[in-house]
Amino acid sequence: MQSRENEHVFVVGDANGHEPVLHVAKEHGAIAASNIRSHVAGEPLEVYENTHHHVAFTGLGVLPFARVGHSVESAQKAGIEHISVTREAASDGVFKSKNVPAGLGRLVVGTDGTILGWQGLHYHADVMAKTMQIAVEMGLDVESVPDRAYHPTTPEILDGLFRAATEELRT
Ligand SMILES: Cc1cc2nc3c(=O)[nH]c(=O)nc-3n(C[C@H](O)[C@H](O)[C@H](O)COP(=O)(O)OP(=O)(O)OC[C@H]3O[C@@H](n4cnc5c(N)ncnc54)[C@H](O)[C@@H]3O)c2cc1C
Repeated sequence: MQSRENEHVFVVGDANGHEPVLHVAKEHGAIAASNIRSHVAGEPLEVYENTHHHVAFTGLGVLPFARVGHSVESAQKAGIEHISVTREAASDGVFKSKNVPAGLGRLVVGTDGTILGWQGLHYHADVMAKTMQIAVEMGLDVESVPDRAYHPTTPEILDGLFRAATEELRT
């Protein structure tokens, strides 16, 4: 980000006080490098905007926390009409058979069906962040996501969330 006090100073990563997580720091770095070149050339600068996306190495990495897009709280704050559904990891046998039944996932969906956000605090939540980034950033309709559970795999927790949200929207 460009400093307000000195246009020649660009501050990236934790030092700028915005979203202190690693992948955001990396994105800041890439955009700042490009913006510095643009600044020298007298060209317009790119404003950094992102969809909220965090992956944290919680639970010694076995139970990571991942978030993409809106949480219930941020959707409420933004005044977006939405529903949310929650699924315990233990609801899917695969988590039990892998001996990692703790945790849960939550999906936030607009009342028009658009997938707005997801949070997972469970085994493999870090791996699922990419899938959910695609769903959120492409604004997919929850009913358009293929209901194809690969059994027995941990992403069945996502299928459970999509099904529950679809049912709730239809009632
Ligand atoms: C315990 C812990 C766990 C974390 N877990 C996660 C996680 O699970 N997921 C996630 O996304 N993020 C996590 N983070 C946050 C992530 O590490 C930071 O957001 C990221 O490292 C920020 O990158 P940066 O380049 O801004 O700063 P840094 O990675 O801190 O790099 C700054 C560098 O500047 C050097 N430096 C400082 N002062 C000077 C100086 N005067 N001269 C020269 N060099 C200097 C430092 O030594 C350091 O190497 C965690 C952070 C901590 C502390």
